Amino acid sequence: MTHKEFSAGGVVFKKENGELHIQLILDRYGKVSLAKGKMELGETIEKTALREIEEETGILGSIVSPVDIIAYTYQNPVHGEVNKEVHYYLVEAKGGHLKPQIEEINEVSWYTPKDAWRRQQQSGYRNNDIILRKALSLLGISV
Ligand code: ATP
Repeated sequence: MTHKEFSAGGVVFKKENGELHIQLILDRYGKVSLAKGKMELGETIEKTALREIEEETGILGSIVSPVDIIAYTYQNPVHGEVNKEVHYYLVEAKGGHLKPQIEEINEVSWYTPKDAWRRQQQSGYRNNDIILRKALSLLGISV
């Protein structure tokens, strides 16, 4: 039987002196991505997204709106083929301090919307293009 996995995460943003900053991570596989992680039993998917953002990046956020859901398949050494769904939200940073959880991710930083889009184009997963594009569009930025 194919293993099924549910994760949730977010396009996290903050507004500082009227300027918008977008959070991107470098995942443990060396790719540019978004903070996310696996859903735990008894948790809502929104709770998963906020918990994982806090655990992986140190930022306390609040959900603004859903963005979209992506799906992909990968090979797990134990489970074999895994069909995965990731639910992404637009999340506003409300507190905390930026600090990568190095067991889970390689780094986390803030970028201008333009730089975030450039990084995503250069080193991101292609299925995250639509997530970042939609999130930026919700923030009034077209790329
Ligand atoms: P999490 O607990 O955050 O869901 P994980 O490390 O258990 O993360 P993934 O991040 O899904 O799992 O990584 C598993 C495999 O899938 C890796 O080979 C990774 O490079 C790949 N992968 C990660 N994100 C994507 C994506 N958006 N599209 C396609 N493949 C991806």
